[in-house]
Amino acid sequence: MSARRANGRRSRPQDDAPALILKPGREKSLARRHPWVFSGAVERVEGAPEPGATVAVRAATGGFLAWAAFSPQSQIRARAWSFDEAESIGAGFFRARVDGAVSRRAGLERDTDALRLVHGEADGLPGVVCDRYSGLVAVQLSSAGAERWRDEIVEAVCAASGCRAAYERSDLEVRSLEGLAPRAGPLRGAPDAVVTIVEHGLHYRVDVAHGQKTGFYLDQRANRRTIGALAAGREVLNAFCYSGGFSLAALAGGAASVLSIDSSAAALELARENLALNRLDAARAEWREADVFQCLRELRNAGRTFDLVVLDPPKFAPTAAHAERAARAYKDVNLLALKLLRPGGLLATFSCSGGVSAELFQKILAGAATDAGADAELVARFHADRDHPVLMSFPEGEYLKGLLLRKR
Ligand code: SAH
Repeated sequence: MSARRANGRRSRPQDDAPALILKPGREKSLARRHPWVFSGAVERVEGAPEPGATVAVRAATGGFLAWAAFSPQSQIRARAWSFDEAESIGAGFFRARVDGAVSRRAGLERDTDALRLVHGEADGLPGVVCDRYSGLVAVQLSSAGAERWRDEIVEAVCAASGCRAAYERSDLEVRSLEGLAPRAGPLRGAPDAVVTIVEHGLHYRVDVAHGQKTGFYLDQRANRRTIGALAAGREVLNAFCYSGGFSLAALAGGAASVLSIDSSAAALELARENLALNRLDAARAEWREADVFQCLRELRNAGRTFDLVVLDPPKFAPTAAHAERAARAYKDVNLLALKLLRPGGLLATFSCSGGVSAELFQKILAGAATDAGADAELVARFHADRDHPVLMSFPEGEYLKGLLLRKR
């Protein structure tokens, strides 16, 4: 490519970059620094960018909007890396973004040695998630752009965190929307994929190779602490317990008993291991491998009651299109939970569904309380911990919400 234009002025290398030209009026969201360009907004593609290549996104009038990663197969046709025309997208860019993300989390290491170091769009790195588990980084790349820069991203996150080992967990379904195959395995070092982490003084075994997400629900860290602080003397039910996060927090907080339910045998095995690792009283802990919906009905029919119920189900609604069916599932399970609560008891209930807003979730809970014949008081709201930041220009990033209710 010529470094000189016909008019003889030296051009910068990126002047020759391929471009996406938007339809008239479709520049508004990028102008507000929202990082996604939907396929319907694109008038034409100039040049022949490969999947993941950096393209200049321009308004119909030609004005520069962003440098973005091209995703030819996805409805989200491009994801912005930078809104600064002078920025060059390369190793230095990824180092600076990762360094920024890691330094914003300073102070969290007082609570834990496991934290999300890079949280996608909210850290200016769409499609990139990096979770640190002690000396190992788990990397999850979900877009063509992130895939294109794998080596630079892994290098930057290892350098910024001081971790020598990295493991890839890009085996998530959304990659197929980008035309990418699932990918998982060691990236750096010869990592032992089962790592012990410490969170608020509790130890957890994390299986980075086979665990859910990248191995642990880091987003619930602050909420586990809250539950621990509320648990003293209470009979606790922890539904959808995974590897026992809320269960251990409650036991360490002095719960009288904790009944934990999950449908995954592997998760429960890890949970039992975690209980032993922390030398917590096994007599106060009961684990059940079961379907929560069915199990809660059985507990209700048996007349069981609890003082504190934690409900942290999987994503019932990945997108707004699933919201209606998800709403029924949330209502069903919360109604059952409210019936199992004694008067004065607490319900900590969560939704990690991107397709269910905080407002809708609160409405669902109001409906569940009415149908359970219960008066419920809103005591507090839960959010993801601060290593999962929410950027004002990207409200979609606020996926985890929760309510703490007291039954009167
Ligand atoms: N609270 C946990 C994370 C929960 S993730 C923590 O802090 O670590 C959701 C869990 O629900 C997963 O472990 C999954 O195995 C389980 N699950 C999904 N559907 C279920 C069902 N119908 N019944 C029981 N468990 C289920």
